[in-house]
Amino acid sequence: MQKRIKDIYFNVNFSSSVTIILEPSEEKWDKIYGNCLSFIMNLPGRVNKIYFLGNKREYQIFIPQDFEMNGTGWFRENIKRPCLIGGILENLLNEGGRGMIVVIFSKEIIDIKDWENSEIFERMVFVNVNEEKLTNFQRFENPVEKIYIRGKGFFPLVYKMKPENIKSFVEYRDGEFTIKINGNLENLEGHLKVICSDENPKLFIKRSKGSPEEIILKDENPWFNNPEWISIPEDLIEVINAGIMKKEYRCPICGKNHRYDRLLCPEGGSILKGFPHNKTILIKRKEYLPLSDWIAFPLKNNERVITDEGIIYDWKDGRWERKKMIDLYEEVDDEIWGIFHRI
Ligand SMILES: [Zn+2]
Repeated sequence: MQKRIKDIYFNVNFSSSVTIILEPSEEKWDKIYGNCLSFIMNLPGRVNKIYFLGNKREYQIFIPQDFEMNGTGWFRENIKRPCLIGGILENLLNEGGRGMIVVIFSKEIIDIKDWENSEIFERMVFVNVNEEKLTNFQRFENPVEKIYIRGKGFFPLVYKMKPENIKSFVEYRDGEFTIKINGNLENLEGHLKVICSDENPKLFIKRSKGSPEEIILKDENPWFNNPEWISIPEDLIEVINAGIMKKEYRCPICGKNHRYDRLLCPEGGSILKGFPHNKTILIKRKEYLPLSDWIAFPLKNNERVITDEGIIYDWKDGRWERKKMIDLYEEVDDEIWGIFHRI
């Protein structure tokens, strides 16, 4: 299987929508209506549709007034329907959302037992108007607990998230990479350049109730420029060649010979002037590439990756295998050398 480099993105809004299901009870309608209305008013913009038990048809709410104006008319269309919820829950499942579902009712829902062990049941809250009046709206929240990105053969090379102060890190475990994202957010946008298999990686959103929502990242035009190879200054070519050959070289600072692995001159400073320390630098003939903006760089037809920390991972038997941390000078691909100058 060929591994590919792709540019992908996502843009998500975390405020979860709420669906309300009402019992079309003639004698309790005043209470059911009143509870539903206070719910819509207290969570403005969050309630996007209403159902009546026994009817799969959804009634959309765009602004709170939609329910005030039309609620009673909708109710009349549904009077005397049986207290059945299965068809509605099947509809909601097919839509794939992960929002909360509030059921406002007064008597037993005939088929609710069929759903008691389902994932969707975890996201349901029941309000019996014979027993309570809605006052505490906190219990209808379903906060985000974890956000992460992973996928088959996934290896992030570079990424950018908005808002920019968001904390994220890359975790390596059992041959797989995951980007973990912290924070209590309203919106999150991300652009990534990754190595992956045929299937694009997914963003997972785990809320306190229900199973994680999965969003497949979409293809986009390249968001990041390819890193640029820079010409090695003339006086450093001999130093680098000596490193590759593991020989002595004549120091451009003091004029004396140093061993290949001595990169700080005793008479003053760093010999590889302008090369960053403690970062991977790749060398290809007379050019170099410091990995400063990217987390990692692809090698060997994307079946090997070197990280900015100098660690090589190889794609082997369907997983990323941590091979080694490179030495000061090390051939990492055909005619490409890695330098890692630890200070
Ligand atoms: Zn010197």
